[in-house]
Amino acid sequence: MEIVWFKHDLRIRDHAPLTEAVAAGPVLALFIHEPEIILAPDFSASHGAFIRECLDSLSAALQERGAELVELTGSVPGLLEKIWLQQPFANLWSHEETGNWASYQRDKLVASWCRQRGVRWRQAPQNGVLRGLTTRTKQDWLAELEVYSSSEPVKAPRNIVPARLDPMLPAPVAPLQAAGHDKPGRIKGGRAEAIRLLTEFVRTKIIRYPQSISSPLTAEDGCSRLSPFLAHGVITVREIVLAMNRRVGSPEIASNKYRQERLINALRFFADRLSWRAGYFQNMESMPRLEFDNIHPAMSGLREEEFDPARFAHWKNGETGYPMVDAAMKMLHHTGWINMRMRGMVLSFALNELWLHWREPALFLAREFVDYEPAIHYNQMQIHAGTAGAGSMLAYNPVKQAQELDPEGVFVRRWLPVLQAVPDAYIFEPWTMPLAAQTACGVTIGIDYPVPLVDHLEAARQARSRVADAQIAAGIRQRAVRNKAGQNRDGANQAGLF
Ligand SMILES: Cc1cc2nc3c(=O)[nH]c(=O)nc-3n(C[C@H](O)[C@H](O)[C@H](O)COP(=O)(O)OP(=O)(O)OC[C@H]3O[C@@H](n4cnc5c(N)ncnc54)[C@H](O)[C@@H]3O)c2cc1C
Repeated sequence: MEIVWFKHDLRIRDHAPLTEAVAAGPVLALFIHEPEIILAPDFSASHGAFIRECLDSLSAALQERGAELVELTGSVPGLLEKIWLQQPFANLWSHEETGNWASYQRDKLVASWCRQRGVRWRQAPQNGVLRGLTTRTKQDWLAELEVYSSSEPVKAPRNIVPARLDPMLPAPVAPLQAAGHDKPGRIKGGRAEAIRLLTEFVRTKIIRYPQSISSPLTAEDGCSRLSPFLAHGVITVREIVLAMNRRVGSPEIASNKYRQERLINALRFFADRLSWRAGYFQNMESMPRLEFDNIHPAMSGLREEEFDPARFAHWKNGETGYPMVDAAMKMLHHTGWINMRMRGMVLSFALNELWLHWREPALFLAREFVDYEPAIHYNQMQIHAGTAGAGSMLAYNPVKQAQELDPEGVFVRRWLPVLQAVPDAYIFEPWTMPLAAQTACGVTIGIDYPVPLVDHLEAARQARSRVADAQIAAGIRQRAVRNKAGQNRDGANQAGLF
């Protein structure tokens, strides 16, 4: 019997461990609902619901090929031991996982159990990540990513001979309930949805992608929205790259050089994001404690002791008094997704204007983001906090962001209907509205909508200066320099930055 352990790889195409296990013998396809993962503070009900839909889709795909997805609940080494005692097996097949601390700890226990029982754990790399890279040079993993993404996805097996367990597997127990509620506007999981999104994106949307990603008005429809599917391995980077290359080579595109060039430029822009993703994975591989520790140890103690729970609560609830921040938070509550610029703005407001240490905001956002991916997430936290070492923190001016990305206040009014009747002149700074105007539009600041928690310009100035002082003391930079307008991480000109 060959055990294929599905984790963040809920698919059958481009799944080398499954294909190889099928060639080796009868297969037990296994997914384990792990208390250590589900009850952890970075997991939420919307993750659980998304995963459920992906498991249903995986289960249907396996059934079409003659196999069954067996779902168990419990700690992995204990369940493997029970299965092994009923029917010893020689191989455990899975992908390598570059996940959170809980999954890292669990993997160590599984490795130890495999050694004790003489089981060979055959882990295939994924996401172009090089495990065990000691020097961590960028060239190494970029070369690996290039090789990985230019190779053909592994075909799905046609037929799977299922393993029969005698007498019975450990009895399934009631599914564990994660914290919180599912989100009404959440994207639906499953392979069919991932393929639909990819096809639509590559056919019609990618050409406008570089211009669409910054404003929350255009990003919702203009981004690929593939992130939760990538996070749970419903689709792979290699499959996305293949779909893009096919599009570039299609007769419709190849016959029009101007269009082909535009498409190639847009694809490069998109591919940059996929390579950032791979870079963050590679970072996480060598820094498994990234979710707890400041990347640069000398930055420890910068914010930790000053955590203000009341400020944190207002921020979480979308009640900071800054409409762009609050609107983005409300959208996140409803959908589980906001675009990268809004993620950066919401986060930088918490870390810099509100001076909150990144750990609690990170956990809150992890539960909120349906696409939560520890490697990307914690790197982003630390880059914005200025604790990553290189360079300064990232800070966004929430008023400027609103003026540039939502000039007519459409996004703000959509997610903060209470501000619907506020005149355009005050929509991004409602606290400046004279009392007469408040009465006229029926919105009293401090009652219907909060007064600002802080003076954002002054708070950001202080944050910049404290981060700069700490970085200078740590020898990370020579002298305090203001964040200058320049090339933003999302490729746009950072005119909205301080
Ligand atoms: C504070 C903060 C936290 C973030 N946390 C996460 C997270 O937990 N999970 C997550 O998938 N992304 C995260 N991102 C990155 C990015 O915002 C999301 O990947 C993107 O918004 C997802 O939407 P999309 O799939 O439509 O992206 P697209 O714009 O269509 O991009 C395609 C894919 O490229 C990758 N990608 C895009 N932007 C980035 C980036 N900046 N860094 C690394 N990879 C990127 C993602 O896999 C994404 O699915 C975070 C960004 C910030 C600023």
